[in-house]
Parts: sequence; C-alpha cells; structure tokens
Amino acid sequence: MHYVVITGGVISGIGKGTITSSLGYLLKERGLKVNILKIDPYLNYDAGTMNPYQHGEVFVLKDGSEVDLDLGNYERFLDRDLTSDNNITTGKVYSTVIERERRGDYLGSTVQIIPHITDEIKRRIRNVTQQSETDILLIEVGGVVGDIESMPFLEALRQMKLEEDGRMFFIHVTYVPMLSSVGELKTKPTQHSVKELRSIGIQPDSIIARSPGILSEDVRNKIALFTQVDNKAVIGVPDVSDIFQMPLVINESNLVDIILEKFRKEGNNIENVGKSELIQWKNLLRNILNPKDKVEIAIVGKYVNLKDSYISHEHAFMHVTGNTGIGVKIRWVNSETEMNDFEKLKGVHGILIPGGFGSRGIEGKIKAITYARKNKIPILGICLGFQLQVVEYSRNVLDFKDANSTEFEPGTHYPVIDLLPEQIGITKLGGTMRLGDKPVLIKEGTKAYSLYRTNLIHERHRHRYEVNPRYLKDLEQSGLKFAATDETGYRMEILELVDHPFFMGSQFHAEFKSRPFKPSVLHLGLVEAAYQYKKFLRND
Ligand code: GLN
Repeated sequence: MHYVVITGGVISGIGKGTITSSLGYLLKERGLKVNILKIDPYLNYDAGTMNPYQHGEVFVLKDGSEVDLDLGNYERFLDRDLTSDNNITTGKVYSTVIERERRGDYLGSTVQIIPHITDEIKRRIRNVTQQSETDILLIEVGGVVGDIESMPFLEALRQMKLEEDGRMFFIHVTYVPMLSSVGELKTKPTQHSVKELRSIGIQPDSIIARSPGILSEDVRNKIALFTQVDNKAVIGVPDVSDIFQMPLVINESNLVDIILEKFRKEGNNIENVGKSELIQWKNLLRNILNPKDKVEIAIVGKYVNLKDSYISHEHAFMHVTGNTGIGVKIRWVNSETEMNDFEKLKGVHGILIPGGFGSRGIEGKIKAITYARKNKIPILGICLGFQLQVVEYSRNVLDFKDANSTEFEPGTHYPVIDLLPEQIGITKLGGTMRLGDKPVLIKEGTKAYSLYRTNLIHERHRHRYEVNPRYLKDLEQSGLKFAATDETGYRMEILELVDHPFFMGSQFHAEFKSRPFKPSVLHLGLVEAAYQYKKFLRND
C-alpha cells in the first residue's frame, strides 16, 4: 500500500482536483489499482446542505452520499465508483470521536486533537485502502496549507509518514504568479508556502507550480533550491484551455516515474506495466479540441452565473464530444432573469433543464419547455427539469391551469408532482430524500429503450418529489409517455413525447454517471438530436 498526498499552497482554486484526478488516471494506465480520497477540512458533515452559490455542484455517489464535486472528477477520471468513505470531513471525524467519548470508550482520559482526532483521521484513511485492493491511494487535502481547519489532517499525515516507512510521497501544488508589468514569474509565495509546510514537519517530494506561463529552467532551479526539492521534481503546469489536456501535461512531466522511482529507492517497488501511449485519451482530446461540427445547447437554470454549478453536465457533454466529434457550445440562460421572452433561446439546437430545489426560476424553465415542445427543439429535462416537463404538459396540453409541484404550490388543484403517499406500499417516503444508485426499468418499444438498448440500468438519484400516479392516465393518453419506472412500477423515471424529435426527461441524474469513454446516453441522445436539428435548419 502506497500513499500520494496532494496539498495546496498560496491560493485555492488552481486545479488541484484536476491534477489529482489526472495523476490517478495516469497511474491507472500503468496497470495499478488506484483509489482517491478527498479530505475536506470544513466542519460540515458532508456537502448535502451546501449552497451551490458557495460550493458549486453537489455530487451524489452510488451509496447516496452527497459530496464535493471533486469526487465527481475522480470517478470520471478513474472510471470507478466511489463511496462516502472516499470523503473525510472534519464533521465526520469529530462526530465519531465525540460519539465514542459519550459511550465512554476513552475510559475517562482527556480527549485531545493529538492523538484522538489524528488517530481517527489515520483510521479513516487506512480504511479506504482496506475496502478494495489498492496499490496507490491518492489523498487530496482541500484548502491551502496554513488554514486552521487543515492542521489536524496535516499532522495525521505527518505521523503516517513515520509509520509508513517510505511508502508516502508528498506533492505540494502552488501558484507562481506573473508580474504583468515585467512579465516575470514570482516564486516568493511558493517559497513561503513550502516553508509553512516544512514548519509542520512535512517536506514535499515534488512541487507542482501552476502558473500562467511556462516555468523556465531558472525559475524551476530557484524553487528547487529554496524548497530542497530535486529540480526534476519541480514541475511547471501552465494554464490549459481544457481540463482534458491535464493528463497529457502531467504525463510529459514524468511525475509518475518520479513517484514510482522514489518508492523503489526506499525498497517499496510497485510492479507496473510501464509508460502508456495514452492513445485512447489522445483521440478523445482530439475530438474535444477539433470537433467536426458544433451544436449550441442552452442550459436554463438558476445557478448559471456560477462556475461549476453544473459541472457534471459540462463534462457529460465533453464526453459526448470526445466520442462523437460533435462539439457542444453551452449557452447559459438564467431561468430567473433571462426568460421573460424567448430571445435568449433563439438559434439554439437543443435545451437542457437541469435539477434544482426551491421555486426561484421555475416559471422561466417552464417557458423554455413550452418553447422546445412547440418548436420541436430537442430538450432534455433532468430531475427538477423532468418534473417541470410534466407540469408544463399538464398546464398547456391537458389544460390543468394551475398544475404544479406541491414543492412550490402546496394548494394547487392539480398536484401533478407530489410526495408519494405511504399507502402505495413504498417505504421511506414522505419527505426523505431518495439518494444514490437505484434500478431503473426501461420498457421495450420506447425511445429510451432504443437509446439504452437494455431493460435495466442503475442511475443516481437526488429528489423528494415524484410524478403523481393519479395523473398518469391523463398524461399518457395525451402523448406524454413514461418509458421507465423504478422496480415497484409506481415511480416514473423517464418521460418522452411521442410526437416530437427529442423531448425526454429523467427523474435521475444521468450526468453523474457519464464517463469519458461511456458518455451519458441521454446527453448523447440530446446532442445527436440537436445535430440532426441543426442539419435540418441548414437543409443538409
Ligand atoms: N426539488 C425536486 C425534488 O426534491 C428536484 C430535485 C432535483 O432536481 N435534484 O424532488
């Protein structure tokens, strides 16, 4: 068992997660069994209640845990499902220790950060490697060195270095800013950040210096000298236009060999298959950077102004592009402020209505659905988007004037989306969030079946409300078909409109299981339909 720890310095938000994911991919390409653990030093137990305005998207794992979006990147780059154990937060660590203290497990001794909290951190880290066979565990520590919250974690990692006897490798990711007046790269913040790391007892084995420009030999040597890191292990990573370039950038730096060499030198050799040509990844990237054609897809949501709120959708589209060569330009449309008319949707080839909570912006989304339905523009609704497709159809086709979800209008005459009552035999309903991978049964002869080509899929969920079974007959008779349900048959999972080129929606989050070489089937379907629509407009 080997560990590679990735810490951050100078500033956050410089792509530490992407670097970690890319390194994971490269190690996996060497034939190694790789797992990734994210340490989030905040006090929240998990990301479930965190506001996308502050934090970006909440990602959902197969076991239903709601986690930081970095775990989404790990899953995609490793092509592997993770669990809640892959995310340690201060909240989780402290609640275990306090619970134990209340049970009397500490036999009356004073409970302290060292050793009790640090022991619990180490236990959780090692636990990840015990659950499945792992050659290398990458540990990304969120935030930057010097944050008060991250101290106990760094202390635990420092202790592990002593205990693990040459099986740990520390990478410090820093930022080397450019002084614009003279175009010079400044290494001082990096020097200080490494000094801080060393003052808590951690000497990095490698420095990844993110910077707007290429790091010259001189700058690398200077960093190496001041930080006591071998200059070959000081790696400059300039800004890349696309995160899919990152594995290739890291590959060129020889970081993987530097890591494996260090382990070997310390007498901990790891068998691996040697350097890979990364042919498959290069093909994917070629399509992403030079697509044969492009479609424009509007994402109509309330968090469009905030980077990363819909990151899994962005990735799903990139996966589609990587596999088909059809590029996707996303047009961000704010459902709250930009949907007074249809101006913002003019000229798009497809529309995506993402998930969400709360009533802000829902009428704008409903308008976008009407526009797509009437003008036969391909549209995909996800979760809340799916529910609003049902609301829109009920209001405008079935003429159920005030139809709504009871989440937004508890007193509506037509609660077409509602909390399912306990009576129909499904347990754990009535307000509990339905989370994680659940089976979805697809009916033969539907559009969904022709896309998925199977009866059974498992997809990620995060919702409370459902299509109200009372209105199924009305909806289906007027053309809105439900092509998939859960295993009980009561819960609707996929909808499709018969008389429309692509009007589909899913109660599940298709974007969460999209992977570079296995793009989300529904996103793929939307893009292909959008491409057909574009060709139709061009009269091809
Ligand atoms: N708010 C809706 C529900 O709870 C949809 C949730 C979502 O889009 N993730 O059912």
